Amino acid sequence: MIDYSDKRRRMVREQIEARGVRDLAVLKAMEKAPRHLFVPEVMLEQAYEDSPLPIGSKQTISQPYTVAFMTEALELTGNEKVLEIGTGSGYQTAILAELSKEVYSLERIPELAKLASKRLAELGYKNVQVRAGDGTLGWPEAAPFAAIIVTAGAPEIPEPLLEQLEDRGRLVIPVGDKYSQTMIRVRKRGQETARESLGPFRFVELIGEHGHRE
Ligand code: SAH
Repeated sequence: MIDYSDKRRRMVREQIEARGVRDLAVLKAMEKAPRHLFVPEVMLEQAYEDSPLPIGSKQTISQPYTVAFMTEALELTGNEKVLEIGTGSGYQTAILAELSKEVYSLERIPELAKLASKRLAELGYKNVQVRAGDGTLGWPEAAPFAAIIVTAGAPEIPEPLLEQLEDRGRLVIPVGDKYSQTMIRVRKRGQETARESLGPFRFVELIGEHGHRE
C-alpha cells in the first residue's frame, strides 16, 4: 500500500515550504487534504508530483505550489465566506473549506462540477456548495464575499467579481493572455481598490461573459 500521508508531507516540505509559503494553517491543510482522491485513477501515482495534471474535459488540477500560494495570498482566518471560480477537480475547494467558514464554487463544465461536488460530499466537506455556471458573473445571491479566488486565466478582472467583494476583501486572480498571466491581488477598501502583482503563472483559460470568448 502506498503511504500517501508520507508523500503529502514531502510535497509540503519540498515543493511548498521550500518555495516560501509560510502560513502554517495553509501548510497544515495541504498536509491533510487527500490530493490523490482528486485526480483520475490512472494518475494516482503522480498525485503528489510538482506539476498540474489532466482531469478530463481539457482541464487540469493546479500544481500543489500554485494552490498553496494562492490560498496564502487570500489571508484567510477561518471566518470567511469564499467564492471560488473554476472548481475543476475540487482540490482547491477542499483546501479553502479547511480554512474558511463557507465556500461557494462555480465551474463552467457541468460534468466537472458534478464530479467535484460528489467527491467533496463523500469526503465529508459540509461547508461547500458547487454549482455549474459562468463564474465571471459571480454568485450574486450569496454575495458579498470576504475572499474570491479565480483559478483560470482571465483577460481582465471581471467587474461582477469586484462588485461582489466585501469591504476589506481580497480577490486573487491570474490576469494576462492565453499563454501567461500575472497573479494579481486586489484589496477593497470602501469603494477603492488596490492591486498588487504577485508573479507569473500559467493557467487554462477563463471562458465566459467577462472572460475569454469560447
Ligand atoms: N482549482 C482547480 C483548477 C481547475 S482548471 C483544480 O485545481 O482542480 C480551471 C477550471 O476553470 C476548469 O475546470 C475550467 O472549466 C474552469 N473555468 C473556466 N472558465 C470558467 C468560468 N467562466 N466559470 C467557471 N469555471 C470556469
